Amino acid sequence: MKITGFGAAEGVTGSCHLVEANGARLLVDCGLHQGGHQEEKRNWQTFPFDPQGLDGVLLTHGHLDHCGRLPRLVKEGFRGPIITTAATREVARLILLDAAHLQHEDFLVRKRKARRSGQPVRPPLYSVEDVFYMLDQFEPRAQYEQPLELAPGLRASFRDAGHILGSAFIELELEEDGTRKRTTFSGDLGNLGQHVVPDPVIPDRCDLAVVESTYGDRNHRSVEDSVEELADAVNTTLEQKGNVVIPTFALERAQDVLFYLGQLRREERIPECPIFLDSPLAIDITGVYRRHPGCLEGTLQGMIESGESPFLFEGVRFTRTVEESKEINDVRGAIIMAGSGMCTGGRVLHHLRHNLWREEASVVIVGYQARGTLGRALVEGAKNVRIFGEEIAVKAKIYTINGFSAHADRAGLLRWLGPCRGGRALLVHGEGHALKALQTAVQDELGMEAQIAPLGEPVNL
Ligand code: ZN
Repeated sequence: MKITGFGAAEGVTGSCHLVEANGARLLVDCGLHQGGHQEEKRNWQTFPFDPQGLDGVLLTHGHLDHCGRLPRLVKEGFRGPIITTAATREVARLILLDAAHLQHEDFLVRKRKARRSGQPVRPPLYSVEDVFYMLDQFEPRAQYEQPLELAPGLRASFRDAGHILGSAFIELELEEDGTRKRTTFSGDLGNLGQHVVPDPVIPDRCDLAVVESTYGDRNHRSVEDSVEELADAVNTTLEQKGNVVIPTFALERAQDVLFYLGQLRREERIPECPIFLDSPLAIDITGVYRRHPGCLEGTLQGMIESGESPFLFEGVRFTRTVEESKEINDVRGAIIMAGSGMCTGGRVLHHLRHNLWREEASVVIVGYQARGTLGRALVEGAKNVRIFGEEIAVKAKIYTINGFSAHADRAGLLRWLGPCRGGRALLVHGEGHALKALQTAVQDELGMEAQIAPLGEPVNL
């Protein structure tokens, strides 16, 4: 078996691994490069392999950095199946349609500017039609713990990665000349002790583990501490009759925060108040969560089976239309969840413009904020920010809560890798310092050989 990393090798985004085994050629994930102009330019480059020559794609989960180039792959001639779980198909469908829609809007803006500057304008990576065309190739026949025969002597098992709804790590088993070898692709692994999706399953022993390293250099605060911090932020702000604005990623974080707010309400640790989920994408994705109770943690499964919703409780309002969203401007003493998660666009900008200058309001940051984003500026204590070209004073209290990560921390990664002692680890999906820290930890604490995956160079098993 030969594995070549063409993305998320020596970096975080654009996950894409080519597997060649027993004459079959497969991709594990085909994600978008994200974060900055240089990184994003790579999405337009032709694939360093022939998409027509692929037998299939195995998709670990529906985050854009794992599925975001699939429509492009199909445009360039890939005609094989995209094998994944039923929940991931639904999540990826919504995420990719949204991405195509945003690319189209961005294209229209650039086209207008290009007309004035006389510069050529690059078309979008793919259209909404391309996404619909690609969806026909999805085969949601992967079920947790049910091995699939991909080719003679080649089997794949999708197992719960506990990262987001439907997420899987994939064990690939190859039988060659009477010997059996196993390579395990971690995809993204979940954080221990989250409440919406279960903890990651522990893998079987393997010969090679291709493992993500996002937080290979640190441990998270516990989820319980973070829920306590959230309760404090809500109580302090509501006592002052201010609004709590929570910039939220539509996938997983929105559902996590809604569930925790529901739990705090049920335990009467926060008062009754209006809670707005002001994001059509997050609302749609919440519907997918409710349709797949089997992928959720036990408590939530039980709630859904007994007809109770973990996400829709007293006070919660799903605001889909622009008019409903605008009406929130007149509300005080509410919790407002809106995207984008890093405040780079979307409805949250309107809510920040209406609340940041108010001393009684607060902004609760619950996710990673990349350098250069408005969210990062708020975390770093900016006194003034610009929103829609207007200077806004930051008087609201800014809370940063770090324990809601959907990624395993260093301890979680080492725990997951435990059964693979005796095999090798190939480290992917991390920034340089995280990769190096995890490499040292895997070697010292597990006694395993650990290699940082070289971009574009094959690794043989
Ligand atoms: Zn992910």
